[in-house]
Amino acid sequence: AYNFSAGPATLPEAVLRQAQEEMLDFRGVGASIVELSHRGPEFIQVAAEAEADLRRLMGIPQDYAVLFTAGGATTAQALIPLNFAAPGQVADYVVTGHWGKTALKQAAPYVTINLAANTEAGGFRDAPPPSTWSLSKDAAYVHYTANETIHGVEYRDIPDVGEVPLVADFSSSIASEPLDVSKFGVIYAGAQKNLGPVGISVVIVRRDLLSRAGQPRADIFNYASNLAAESMLNTPPSWNWYLLGLTVKWMLAEGGVEEFARRNARKAALLYTTIDQSGGYYRNEVVPAARSRMNVPFFLHDAALDAPFLAEAKDAGLISLKGHRVLGGMRASIYNAMPEEGVQALAAFMQDFQRRHG
Ligand code: PLP
Repeated sequence: AYNFSAGPATLPEAVLRQAQEEMLDFRGVGASIVELSHRGPEFIQVAAEAEADLRRLMGIPQDYAVLFTAGGATTAQALIPLNFAAPGQVADYVVTGHWGKTALKQAAPYVTINLAANTEAGGFRDAPPPSTWSLSKDAAYVHYTANETIHGVEYRDIPDVGEVPLVADFSSSIASEPLDVSKFGVIYAGAQKNLGPVGISVVIVRRDLLSRAGQPRADIFNYASNLAAESMLNTPPSWNWYLLGLTVKWMLAEGGVEEFARRNARKAALLYTTIDQSGGYYRNEVVPAARSRMNVPFFLHDAALDAPFLAEAKDAGLISLKGHRVLGGMRASIYNAMPEEGVQALAAFMQDFQRRHG
């Protein structure tokens, strides 16, 4: 089936096959990678290659550290103020969807929030440009969500916020196109959309920020300590790290972020065109310039058709199209690992469904 789940999401078949092949006997060691010590030579190599490959894939400069962490993007949202803001300091938050709200909620106990922009009143359908943000004077950082997974709202241009470090949640669009990492203070992402399986996240931090005192916190919540321990301050999620490494290798072999940018543009264009040319049978409510290339939420003109749409789609091998409960309707998540054939099949199905139920 073509799986349009928002995350955990579809993984490249080649990655799953390799993992299956190596599951019982990791490269002749006689044990599975899930059974081997994270301090052993096999896993140390897996971890080192994952970082080197991710650096190559994303063009991460040397003055940026890469951390592999457990706890998901949500934990990063709480750790960012603890690590990069002094107690009581202001941090600017731009909220353009559900996950921006989550970021704010996780940070609120540790910083004074300045809501620099918030599109909730308009139903989270837009990505207001940085020129309209109400930034504060001495913010510790500016946080925004590059791609809102539920509302399907994406910032394509990197916001210019001057000298203040820009902190970005890239959970659902990391490595989907070339990105100038040097424009950011921190980029973080849960892996379970574009980078591999759930259970591991990536935090890319400009190294100078790691010398900020932050706030009193346990060592395990300290990004500098985690970096000093090479992301192994405690037992890391080694299986997830291994799968992430395979996924990154696959992306490099496929042609890297430039190639995925082209594929993703074609996939998104096909789906939005199908919606826009349906004469209102399907609709996407996001302002066209802010439409996500990764997550395409859409509604049928009559909600009574939702159940038959999902049932018939499933029969046609198109699964996980139900929209998130906060929005309803449908959502097609079309990350790097979703082949173009999958999106073509979905577009054809949508047109056929309209003909039969129109
Ligand atoms: N941020 C974004 C943009 C997301 O899409 C998600 C999850 O879907 C999260 C944060 C939360 O991630 P996690 O479940 O890994 O904590």
